[in-house]
Amino acid sequence: MPHDLILKNGLVVTPQGILEGGVAVDGEKIAAVGASGSLGTAKREVDVQGKIIFPGLFNPHTHLGNGDDVSWQGLDDDFARDTKDFAIGGVTTFATTTVFSKDPLVQCVDRSIKSGTGRSFVDFKITGVVLTPEQITEIPAVARKGCLSFKFFTGYCGCQAESLGMPASGITPDMFFRACEELARVGPPAVALIHAEEPYVRGILSERMQRAGKSDLVSWAEHSPAWAESVQVYQYGVIAKDFGVPMYVVHIANAHTVDFLVYLQREGYPIIGETVVGFLSSTAPEVEAKKLGTHAKIQPPIKFAADRDRLWRGLREGTLTAVGTDSISYSSKYKDAQGFWETRVGLNMQEIDTLPLLFSEGINKGRIDLATLARVVAENPARIFGIYPQKGVIAPGSDADLVVIDQNKQDTLGVHRMRGRADYSNWEGKPVKGMPVMTFLRGTLIAENGEVVGERPLGRYVAGQPPRGLV
Ligand SMILES: [Zn+2]
Repeated sequence: MPHDLILKNGLVVTPQGILEGGVAVDGEKIAAVGASGSLGTAKREVDVQGKIIFPGLFNPHTHLGNGDDVSWQGLDDDFARDTKDFAIGGVTTFATTTVFSKDPLVQCVDRSIKSGTGRSFVDFKITGVVLTPEQITEIPAVARKGCLSFKFFTGYCGCQAESLGMPASGITPDMFFRACEELARVGPPAVALIHAEEPYVRGILSERMQRAGKSDLVSWAEHSPAWAESVQVYQYGVIAKDFGVPMYVVHIANAHTVDFLVYLQREGYPIIGETVVGFLSSTAPEVEAKKLGTHAKIQPPIKFAADRDRLWRGLREGTLTAVGTDSISYSSKYKDAQGFWETRVGLNMQEIDTLPLLFSEGINKGRIDLATLARVVAENPARIFGIYPQKGVIAPGSDADLVVIDQNKQDTLGVHRMRGRADYSNWEGKPVKGMPVMTFLRGTLIAENGEVVGERPLGRYVAGQPPRGLV
């Protein structure tokens, strides 16, 4: 019997190494991986002519429905529109947070799954945003829906916390303690995601800078000292360790935190480190020189060259195990409507730029190799979110989520490539080399050469296996 699809004559990136050959697909699954001559025949054969056959990316950190339009309608719109850029960029699965809401978390997760179904162009998972003590009690019920990741905005207090729907005190250690009790009941891979960035001192420093009339991205970087991140990693990490709950620190920005993680991981703390594309691909002086203003205002801030270099080294040595984007569906109109300090934080959607940036800044500059890149953008996030080996790997039996990367193709980043809401790129005009040219979702070609193929969104919610505590 011929296979449904064969990609041949490529460099296949597998956990066992890089293999000259191809991938055979039957239905939605990978049937075989091996030398091109060993794969047999197929109804459709694609000769990729030496290009890279890479696992579809799993972006663990996005916030659809929380940008220009913070609402369920906004989430529907973002799923329908922004996920086109995910498909073009080779991101075949992603996790998005629920819309910030004090409603029962079970309802929020149900609504999010419904929102993506029939609208998303790629597969998705949901991370439940926990804002209130009531929502903490719902963790086991939410986990039964296959939603095993829970986000805690520990880095916020005062009006910033209230603007997200939290008490003014933010997420306090007692709330996190209660959450760990519930997460321990569910068992791994149920995971606590924290935004670590001590908010009280940050408040003093930001007020001082505003009084001094500063409104630049270097001041923004300096209002959040490196220790603000690591001090919360420790504070919440010791609680998580007590319960044996994996704690995933999102968007690590500082060299100091990576150094500290080396120590904590050696001591057996179940702490997972993520960093984001923006921190790997830019520095505060660079974005300030480009006068990006609010467009590059993310929290924690984009830091300095020494931080960026340490983040890359953290990925290389395995201290940092995942790369996300922390993207939010913002337009420039929204970002430009208020002053520098007033505008909400976050970078806009960058999924279409993710692979070209990581390839150009990582692979081409010798900061990371292909196998490591595959681990941090696909395999590790899939493991952490409990959907490995269904997702995140090129192996027989796994979903046929594949991206063909032309390692020699040069292009220029910019808004002309984007098909979602995003109408600006923080890397506008940046020359890159290494472009995703074909994306397959569960065996179906969904994007080719910068365009979506087929009008119908095929993305599905991925529940994964229920943890032991629930069966
Ligand atoms: Zn985030």
